[in-house]
Amino acid sequence: MVKAALYVISGPSGVGKGTVCRELLAQSDALTLSISATTRAPRAGEVDGVNYHFLSKEDFLQRVENGDFLEWAEVYGNFYGTLRSAVQDELDKGRNVLLEIDTAGARQVKKLMPEAVLIFLAPPSPQELLRRLKERNTDSPEEIERRQRCLQDELAQKVYYDQVLVNDRVADTVEQICRIVSQNQL
Ligand code: 5GP
Repeated sequence: MVKAALYVISGPSGVGKGTVCRELLAQSDALTLSISATTRAPRAGEVDGVNYHFLSKEDFLQRVENGDFLEWAEVYGNFYGTLRSAVQDELDKGRNVLLEIDTAGARQVKKLMPEAVLIFLAPPSPQELLRRLKERNTDSPEEIERRQRCLQDELAQKVYYDQVLVNDRVADTVEQICRIVSQNQL
């Protein structure tokens, strides 16, 4: 049996991580998405247990104390974390796991699991990133500005990644990731 692996996708807010992951999961049954926990309030249309496990801050911090998280980080003022048991259960079943997490979390994962494959999605340009953030219409102007301020610091994190892909056309990015997964399984 091929050994299951962990794939981590990060990149600045608005770069298209969500779209790329959705397409990737639709096209390839080689990957299972890990559903993160967060203290952020659900956005319109988001469902508990599907998009995230939405937790109170108290519950989240209790789970941190219990050691339930493989990694966790504070991102834009909220906590986000990957539940250790969910990831390990899938890996034990021989399934590749996909994490869509921030750069601080990705570095924690790489430290614990050096064989994890870290993939950074970069925008074609800062202008295009701002256009996408405004277009998706999910964040307030203040939130967009806050995410924009973090951009340079976030882009600098790409040096810690095994692969850096410019997400210009989603279909091309998905194809590149599928190739990375197949090559890693050889
Ligand atoms: P959003 O609030 O837009 O859903 O996500 C904000 C940021 O949190 C994104 O950069 C996303 O990758 C990151 N994120 C989502 N889940 C996790 C997680 O489990 N751990 C970490 N470290 N970051 C996460």
